Amino acid sequence: MISELVSEMAMGKSIIIIGAGITGLSAGCYGQMNGYRTSIFEMHDKTGGVCTGWKRKGYTIDGCMHWLVGTSPANSFYHIWEELGVAPGWSIVDHEQYMSIEGEGGKVFTVYADIDRLEQHMKELAPEDKDVIEELTKGVRDCTRMNMPMEKAPELYSPIDGLKMMFTTFPLLRSMRKWGKVPSLDFARRFKNPFLRAAFSTTFIADVADFPILCMLMTLAWLHRKAAGYLVGGGLALSDAIERRYLSLGGELHCKSRVDEILVESDKAVGVRLADGTEHRGDIVISAADGHTTIFDMLDGRYIDEKIRGYYDNPKLFPPLVYIGLGVARSFDSVPSSVAGMSFPIDKPVTIAEQEHKRLGVQIHNFDPTLAPKGKTVLKVQFNTDYDYWKKLRQAPERYNAEKEQVAEQVITALDQRFPGLAASVEMHDVATPMTWERYTGNWRGSYEGWLPTAQSLRLRMSKTLPGLDNFYMAGQWVEPGGGLPTAAMSGRNVTQIICKKDNRQFVTTMP
Ligand SMILES: Cc1cc2nc3c(=O)[nH]c(=O)nc-3n(C[C@H](O)[C@H](O)[C@H](O)COP(=O)(O)OP(=O)(O)OC[C@H]3O[C@@H](n4cnc5c(N)ncnc54)[C@H](O)[C@@H]3O)c2cc1C
Repeated sequence: MISELVSEMAMGKSIIIIGAGITGLSAGCYGQMNGYRTSIFEMHDKTGGVCTGWKRKGYTIDGCMHWLVGTSPANSFYHIWEELGVAPGWSIVDHEQYMSIEGEGGKVFTVYADIDRLEQHMKELAPEDKDVIEELTKGVRDCTRMNMPMEKAPELYSPIDGLKMMFTTFPLLRSMRKWGKVPSLDFARRFKNPFLRAAFSTTFIADVADFPILCMLMTLAWLHRKAAGYLVGGGLALSDAIERRYLSLGGELHCKSRVDEILVESDKAVGVRLADGTEHRGDIVISAADGHTTIFDMLDGRYIDEKIRGYYDNPKLFPPLVYIGLGVARSFDSVPSSVAGMSFPIDKPVTIAEQEHKRLGVQIHNFDPTLAPKGKTVLKVQFNTDYDYWKKLRQAPERYNAEKEQVAEQVITALDQRFPGLAASVEMHDVATPMTWERYTGNWRGSYEGWLPTAQSLRLRMSKTLPGLDNFYMAGQWVEPGGGLPTAAMSGRNVTQIICKKDNRQFVTTMP
């Protein structure tokens, strides 16, 4: 009787959500499904956050999507994409390769998605590394048996749920413990073959060298099982679909509405103040925006403890990017499609933010016809870069713009070496920097995916609440180390479950 009464009361409750990235949109959808009245306030003029794309001269530069975990119905994430109205009416490409890495003298290491093919190829390249290769591919095969339960927010696990989880993961526990502790770079150093060792460490795992190798094994396992394909249309297709689902569930969306302050009365969040000075009240506030801005600006650093301060004082973040999009009047039919493109050595290093790059990695979007006019292709090149360099340069707009032009020129010249004649076919170029991400998404220090996973942070569970503040929650990549699209969608779902539990309501989901 009492619980019914509380449920009735929850029916009328309102939730204010800050940020319309995948997390905010997801929280909005699940909030609506559970009878809350939700309003999302987004500072940009469109939804999606970092899951986006931008149009230039008839081309669309995808700003996000390489792979989306959960594209196979057998994967536990799939039904979240169904609930959010993305699956099943989507178009998915399952690449046969993760990437290809070219070396000197025509050598190529192709990271095939099919694990048997990968094993055979690696043994042909480096017979002396048979044992390490078999250990690696066994690890991948073990991971193919892993399907993480997603139904319940870990914060709500009872001891019985914990036991069930142990039971589900038990056969793989040893393997997970082993691979969860080994940084990718340490693993790469075990290859004796110089080409394979260099290809592995300087390219394949270069961006994730500190990540436990388990992350790479899981990636390869998902690709092998065709559970992490590319959604045609890229980031825009994903965010547009979830935005449509949110609006169809009756959610309220306010774009061009930057939140400056979270309103607090008697240590309870009661609403938000926007940059235009208007105030909006709600029973619950969820911030699905950047963590640093939320804690230190919107809440003025008043609700924090040593643990949280520690994360922000010694941040280990995904490095920000310089991201070059090119529109090329050429089809690239002979280049196999892949998750992360191809990497090759260049004669003249490309210098960006005073750092020399001796290789170039290019993603050739010949597998997504929606991004370019017929017979033409979008190419994408990205480099990790130094945030402070670009921050300083941005203060001198002319120099900043000249530097971006110079980056594009160097990249086009390097690509022309590998694809002779390419330079003459470039119809569009566009350079995004950490300042671009900062301006459009507010992500701290331009980090595009929040906290970098390490062997320590992989096991870290960050709290979705702040000490001493009621009716307030955080969700998204700033409380889920490692970030990613499925994690963002799940974070929005989980935070809604936590709110339902507090309101003594049964969490429900609906299908479109
Ligand atoms: C180049 C790139 C490639 C990626 N590739 C992949 C991939 O292949 N697969 C994968 O799974 N993941 C990938 N990711 C990561 C993934 O896109 C992100 O982890 C995820 O989209 C984060 O979603 P989010 O909603 O938590 O955060 P965000 O997308 O950052 O959303 C936060 C939102 O809050 C808004 N906001 C901020 N401050 C305010 C304010 N004051 N007031 C109002 N609104 C505010 C922002 O504008 C933004 O819309 C990639 C990301 C990038 C950038």
